[in-house]
Amino acid sequence: MNSDSKNKKISVIVPFLNEQENLPLLYERCTQVFHSLEEDVEFVFIDDGSTDGSLAWVKQTAAKDPSVKYIQLSRNFGHQRAITSGMHLCTGDAAVIIDADLQDPPEVIADMVVKWKEGFEVVHAVRSSRKGESRLKKFLAHIFYRLLSKMTEVDMVVDAGDFRLLDRKALDALNAMPEQHRYMRGLASWIGFSQTTVEYERDARHAGVTKYPLIKSIALALNAITSFSGTPLRLIFYLGTLLCTLSVGIGIYLFIVWTFIQTSPSHAGTTYLTLAIFFVSGLQMLCMGILGQYLRRVFDEIKNRPLYLIKQTNLEK
Ligand code: UDP
Ligand code: MG
Repeated sequence: MNSDSKNKKISVIVPFLNEQENLPLLYERCTQVFHSLEEDVEFVFIDDGSTDGSLAWVKQTAAKDPSVKYIQLSRNFGHQRAITSGMHLCTGDAAVIIDADLQDPPEVIADMVVKWKEGFEVVHAVRSSRKGESRLKKFLAHIFYRLLSKMTEVDMVVDAGDFRLLDRKALDALNAMPEQHRYMRGLASWIGFSQTTVEYERDARHAGVTKYPLIKSIALALNAITSFSGTPLRLIFYLGTLLCTLSVGIGIYLFIVWTFIQTSPSHAGTTYLTLAIFFVSGLQMLCMGILGQYLRRVFDEIKNRPLYLIKQTNLEK
């Protein structure tokens, strides 16, 4: 028994989009894990616009097991916002965010809880290996996590996904953030507190197909960079400076060579001019594209729309 008269409660936050083959096994394995822990469990299943039987299963299970809560969002809002709704409404002393497809083994929760009891407020699960994912996705993920941690001012944990435990203090801190573009992995590092990691092997999906194809993962990566880093803006400045210095330098050099040393070839001018026009206009477009990314973010933030809408839930707040 705990020193407190009441057991502490841990919320297990599970966002899902069409995971009917996975949810029952996830529920079973989590329940097993909590049999061996002294903490109570609260499941918070978030239906992010599923069209299969997932929600029906959750409701049936909730009718049998009072620790099962669910939130049905009004449509598909995306993984990160689904997690956000669960974090807002969960009532545990700590919460664990876990994918529904059993890529994150529920047994790791026990290790996380050990760290939590040692006093850590954020416990990231770090993948020591990833099974069943394409080589390209693994390679890009490897590069991305390292690039991001170089580009940003906050110390981000490399190779951590969304599988993590958050103490109530960390949850409240994250819940107080109104940002529209929620890159939860970055925000969880940004808040500080005592943080630690546990290692695990990322399994292959139990069933179904990924809802994060490469293109969506790239969108997540871009979101992470523009949310947490001003580096792209600084790069524009460096690039512009370099370009100006180079063109002035080359101009002076050619002027000297062609005036004092040799006569210029007849076609040289047009060739260089054409190349220069292509290069500079390309560069301008690239820079405007980057600026546009940031402007779009400002636009999204000032609209101040709710992050998600709930159609139905058995949680109250
Ligand atoms: N998911 C979601 N909304 C979405 C996409 C995914 O709630 O729009 C859920 C999905 O059901 C799973 C988790 O988010 O529980 C991670 O998605 P997935 O396994 O497809 O991503 P991957 O592990 O392949 O990156
Ligand atoms: Mg997955």
